[in-house]
Amino acid sequence: MPYAHYVKPGSTVKLKDLDPSGHGGLEKEEADFRRHEMGQRVEEMQELMYAANMNSLLLVLQGCDTSGKDGSIKSILSYVNVQSCRVASFKQPTHLEASHDFLWRAHEQVPALGGMTIFNRSHYEDVLVVRVHDLVSKQVCKKRYEQINHFEELLADSGTIIVKFFLHISKDEQEKRLLAREEDADKSWKLSVGDWSERELWKDYQKAFTDALEACSTDCAPWYVVPANHKWFRDLAIMEALETTLKPYRQTWHEHLKEVGVERKKELEAYRQKNNIKT
Ligand code: AMP
Ligand code: MG
Repeated sequence: MPYAHYVKPGSTVKLKDLDPSGHGGLEKEEADFRRHEMGQRVEEMQELMYAANMNSLLLVLQGCDTSGKDGSIKSILSYVNVQSCRVASFKQPTHLEASHDFLWRAHEQVPALGGMTIFNRSHYEDVLVVRVHDLVSKQVCKKRYEQINHFEELLADSGTIIVKFFLHISKDEQEKRLLAREEDADKSWKLSVGDWSERELWKDYQKAFTDALEACSTDCAPWYVVPANHKWFRDLAIMEALETTLKPYRQTWHEHLKEVGVERKKELEAYRQKNNIKT
């Protein structure tokens, strides 16, 4: 059984039945070991993807405050080559962003061929926070699921590999983390009244997340629900899904690079012959 819950396209999602404290029967030490092994394979595949220049990778992270988006990014970045990876964070839209369609700012940030981009929050905020706070009409919001699916299909058709993670924590765990921030002088800067007021809307957010997961998990852009109460298990589950996502492409990238290598060697040989260079 994979560590993260794959949301089968068209299936219903019951977040209550998915344990945020799940840990696959592992202890931290074993989980860290497995993550490290997987991470090294992911690193190798990301390098291949970069060199082959045939695909790009878009990784979307969503979850409520304190769910561990920043921590997950740190964990992923410790394996991938940061020269070909970027992080794009989505905050409250600026005036300019708000004066465009909701996908504009996301489209601008998607990775080019060979590259990888991690979305820290994403275009999904426009069916999450926007829906919970009724920032647009219900009609407009409802249409967005389909618009998101079309957008992601366009990216996939252009070579982007998409994988989306919902970091699933419990309400109790969130409280613990928020209180821990107050205790830790180095973390207190993260405190925000908004975190506590948004927490009052927990149920509405869970419903909005559920609807987004159900409406927008597709073959070309699947959602995974990641048990995230244990940070070490969260990082393992993400790394495993990442490896599973990239693996089917590995052979193609490898073969393509081999062909390119043969071509380069031929060119080099011709150059040496022409210039009478001996090695
Ligand atoms: P943080 O990720 O903690 O820095 O917070 C960013 C804040 O921006 C969160 O409260 C998000 O819900 C909010 N945000 C992101 N995108 C949107 C959006 N499209 N509309 C309104 N608020 C947003
Ligand atoms: Mg925050």
